[in-house]
Amino acid sequence: AQADIAVTGLATMGRNLARNLARHGHSVAVHNRTKARTDALVATYGDEGTFIVCDSIEDLVRSLKRPRKVIIMVQAGAGTDEVIEQLADALEPGDIVVDGGNAHFIDTRRRESALRERGLHFVGTGISGGEEGALLGPSIMPGGTAEAYQTLGPILESIAAQVDDTPCCTHVGADGAGHFVKMVHNGIEYADMQLIGEAYDLLRTVLGKSTEELAEIFRTWNSGDLESFLIEITAEVLAAKDPRGEGAFVDVVLDQTEQKGTGRWTVQIALDLGTPVSGIAEAVFARSVSGHAEQRQAANGVLEGPSTKITIDKPEEFVEDVRRALYASKVVAYAQGFDMIRDGAEAYDWDIDLGAMATIWRGGCIIRARFLDRIREAYEKTPDLPSLLVDPYFARTVNEGQESWRRVVATAAAAGVPVPGFGAALSYYDALRRDRLPAALLQGLRDLFGAHTYRRTDAEGSFHLDWSGDKSEQEA
Ligand code: NDP
Repeated sequence: AQADIAVTGLATMGRNLARNLARHGHSVAVHNRTKARTDALVATYGDEGTFIVCDSIEDLVRSLKRPRKVIIMVQAGAGTDEVIEQLADALEPGDIVVDGGNAHFIDTRRRESALRERGLHFVGTGISGGEEGALLGPSIMPGGTAEAYQTLGPILESIAAQVDDTPCCTHVGADGAGHFVKMVHNGIEYADMQLIGEAYDLLRTVLGKSTEELAEIFRTWNSGDLESFLIEITAEVLAAKDPRGEGAFVDVVLDQTEQKGTGRWTVQIALDLGTPVSGIAEAVFARSVSGHAEQRQAANGVLEGPSTKITIDKPEEFVEDVRRALYASKVVAYAQGFDMIRDGAEAYDWDIDLGAMATIWRGGCIIRARFLDRIREAYEKTPDLPSLLVDPYFARTVNEGQESWRRVVATAAAAGVPVPGFGAALSYYDALRRDRLPAALLQGLRDLFGAHTYRRTDAEGSFHLDWSGDKSEQEA
């Protein structure tokens, strides 16, 4: 036995992860259900490090030093269960099974519990950064036991992205915590992309900017607070030409967005937890709206837009307004995402360090951004921060941006440009800061039609009004 670690499942992600491990000096046992993929990996990249070719799961297990560490990178779902079952039969107590696929954290909790009963560690691990990240350094979010992380952690940290000499990998928390955090990460990614899309739509529709001008604007934004991978690649996509013609690439792409499901999971779970992730939810729904082609076609030309065309006197100021609205909305989306991690940790009994999550997202992953440093600082200073929005830096940012934000949302409405992300974020901001919310009236309605009772601002207890009688108040 000589291999330090094994990877089974050698499609795009597994192959690149195995190469990353080998390049960092780990000897890697490699296996794939269809042997051709294993052979192709070693034939093409065999000189990058030490690969040990394995024909079967049993072979793989035999080749490993103990405690054995096996990373599964197969298709999420039934495939993962099948491979886990084969591995569990072949491994011995103390060995570590890592699932690096995009599993739902509820599945991960089930699998962890089943393997724990068999004496095995199961480490559900979120891996972000796509194909390139897997090869060059992803952001890695492992769950499972602290004991498993002691053995596994140093290997994962060695292949993760590094920012300021800090690896973008840390032990997230027990059982499904890693996959949970990866799920929320993807939800935030959805929100971030939706907001960028709205900024692009506004500048283009209201100001009539060309795609070249827009690419330049995003390039400029990328040198300030908004500096991030997503803003950087927005400039790149906007600057791209149609490979089949003269026009802009973005103009020939069908305007219907796909989704693989992690954004949807985030919203589903947020509903269960009661966390208002309105920014993420609007982003998921905006993708659904874009995909309802028949409805859009039926409405086009039937539903009217504004009768007067909006004119903007000072275009440069509007661009700055949109930038500020984008940043403020983005802060809200992240604040909601971090709230969800906090609520999930409470519900599932995980000890998650929120600042550490911001730290490991600074590199490798799709939402890597400069302002994650600010999030890390905020939670380091005040671990029990009630909301990211009330941290002094972020409060100042949204306060300074709020006038711009209001102008942008108002202009969007007047111009007939949908901004569900900007709008939801601004409404959330206003809801948080308001003295009184209309929830009071809703409580009255609920008491009237269903005797659901209400509480008072000036007395303890619950009360019910005798709505159909003399309108007297009774203690409930
Ligand atoms: P795929 O999701 O396309 O899965 C293909 C791999 O799964 C192949 O190696 C295939 O083997 C194997 N497989 C499928 N079913 C079984 C089974 N029943 N038994 C054994 N092996 C099986 O591969 P990717 O590399 O794209 O992704 C791997 C995992 O990583 C997925 O969970 C994905 O969600 C996740 N992920 C992907 C990212 C991406 O950017 N692609 C980013 C982050 C995570 P065979 O060759 O024999 O068909």
